[in-house]
Amino acid sequence: MDSREKENYSEILRLLPSIDTLLQTATAQKLLPEIGAKAATNLARAATDVLRVEVQKKLDENEKAFEHIQREDFLNIAELKIKATYENSQTKHLQKVINATGVIIHTNLGRAPLAENAQKAMIEQTSRYCSLEYDIETGKRGKRGANAEKLLAEITGAEDALVVNNCAAAAILVLTALCKGGEAIISRGELVEIGGDFRIPDVMEQSGALLKEVGTTNRTKVSDYENAITEETKMLVKVHPSNYRIVGFTSVPNVAELAELAHQKNILLFEDAGSGAIFDLSEYGLTDEPVITKSISDGADVVSFSGDKLLGSVQSGLIVGKKETIEILRKHPFYRALRASKIIYAALEATLEAYKRETQFAEIPVLKMLSLRDEEIEKRVSGFAKALKKTLGKKSELKVEIIEGKSVIGGGSAPLVQPASKLLALTHEKLSAGDLEKNLRLSKPPVITRILEDKVLIDLRTVSENEEMEVLEVLAKVM
Ligand SMILES: *Cc1c(COP(=O)(O)O)cnc(C)c1O
Repeated sequence: MDSREKENYSEILRLLPSIDTLLQTATAQKLLPEIGAKAATNLARAATDVLRVEVQKKLDENEKAFEHIQREDFLNIAELKIKATYENSQTKHLQKVINATGVIIHTNLGRAPLAENAQKAMIEQTSRYCSLEYDIETGKRGKRGANAEKLLAEITGAEDALVVNNCAAAAILVLTALCKGGEAIISRGELVEIGGDFRIPDVMEQSGALLKEVGTTNRTKVSDYENAITEETKMLVKVHPSNYRIVGFTSVPNVAELAELAHQKNILLFEDAGSGAIFDLSEYGLTDEPVITKSISDGADVVSFSGDKLLGSVQSGLIVGKKETIEILRKHPFYRALRASKIIYAALEATLEAYKRETQFAEIPVLKMLSLRDEEIEKRVSGFAKALKKTLGKKSELKVEIIEGKSVIGGGSAPLVQPASKLLALTHEKLSAGDLEKNLRLSKPPVITRILEDKVLIDLRTVSENEEMEVLEVLAKVM
């Protein structure tokens, strides 16, 4: 840049607003109480920095680019930049989204939505002080989460129960407290990775249990376990393969067979059941998910499962089993590091109460969505399509049709089960399916959809009836 250009450049830069001036704009003043002075100053600084670079670039292309520009114009541009930068940063916040993907237990979207009672309990019971470890009757210290544990034991038919932060933590606690330094025997077909880097062999190694693999990938017999048992063996381990299936020529012993063997040999049977259907869900196509009540009645000493998969509550690791076994876990120093918070207990208790009342299919969203009847889904979809067409009007560039499709269980449960659904398929005359999907995702609230063969699909199975109106509004706005 020669000296004349330099002079032109610095003259124009002098027209850029100062940070202080920018902070006085309506946009900045509106944001100030929400984000604080420091963040607002940073936003203003970032806006002017970007503007400075843009001005330089434009001047390099054309030295007369800003011949008629006023101080006022730059201020307006900078103000818009503040707004855009702020809005962009907002998408990074943890926020409510509408799950229109049809994946019921969507791990990326927070797995199980909560029952209304559970939502209320979290806020009402734990926002201030609560009886987490306090016995109101005696005025003395109580047992943390005592009622949730009692409910869990009651519902599953187990002698006792314990709650930790997630099922991975539950498995580590069980193996560390009950099997450290001893052998744990497991079928080769169950040495799986569940997702999110939870690998059974790694977990066992971390716990200090010595992993002893038996059988083959597709077939393992009771005698394979029996022949492997030595003086050093403390436990038989059965792991639900969750999101992985071998089909065809396969077999593994069931819980009852393994429990019989374990107890004959005076060792423990631990089942990591993962998805944790408390009761049999085969009526809804889930025929090979472990059923917790059955594992307990079949004699497993300790069973672990997630609180936020098929059970339909908050992230937690639920452990049920024999009293003396659970007591060892409760007393282990590791438990202190894995114990759950008051918010978790509140939501969990409220969810378990629904099971106790036997109203779980009416109250718990995961089970409600799973058991939604074909006629109900059809009725909702056709009602929604009608309302949408009416909102959009005849001339709309958005085409709406109803097609046959499938929902997904998700969360590493029942990978082969896909409940039939009726889907809303959207196509736009000017926008690609990718752009349409993106517009819906970037709207408020974000509506998450999936794309199949150039169509954007909306599955109302995972959208609550309360959310339908919001989806309708988002669709109307995006068009
Ligand atoms: C999902 C799953 C886990 C991990 O559960 P988190 O609650 O996500 O920690 C562990 N074991 C099995 C068999 C699972 O399916």
